[in-house]
Amino acid sequence: MKTIIRLILVLSVGGLAYFALQAKPQAPMSTSEKKPTPPQKKIVKTDAEWKEILTPEQYRIARQGGTERPDGEVYKQFKKQGSGTYYCAGCNAELFSSKVKFDSRCGWPSFYDPSKAKNVKSITDIDGRRVEVKCAVCDAHLGHVFTGEGFNTPTDKRYCINGTVLKFVPDKK
Ligand SMILES: [Zn+2]
Repeated sequence: MKTIIRLILVLSVGGLAYFALQAKPQAPMSTSEKKPTPPQKKIVKTDAEWKEILTPEQYRIARQGGTERPDGEVYKQFKKQGSGTYYCAGCNAELFSSKVKFDSRCGWPSFYDPSKAKNVKSITDIDGRRVEVKCAVCDAHLGHVFTGEGFNTPTDKRYCINGTVLKFVPDKK
């Protein structure tokens, strides 16, 4: 009997620890009041240099092609943001405007068009199934773009972007 009680205890403590680890808070999307200085040309850095600039979560997404948790803290923050501009967190290139953000209910920040097309590049995956979206200046992975999903937007495109790798600057009132 004692062994069973001890086993239950061990299991519940283990379970709690597991959930505590899962509930680790996400780093918030970086916001600033000042417009960042735009980059002049293509930016190339070593992994060590990127690790100094980016948070571990930003590094995982931007440099290793990761994906943030859908419907997480970053997305909740994104939904509350008013008018402003989204820049690349790695290099300050202007990427999207709040004017083209829309609620796709997919759990990630969604835009229907880049605000500076030359700063956003699209690359079809090797298997041809998805189109990756990258920052054209520093080559950071941003997310994917999907076309023809029937959203009522001018482009019928959904730029599905990881908010973690965006830097938001609100418009001055
Ligand atoms: Zn960039």
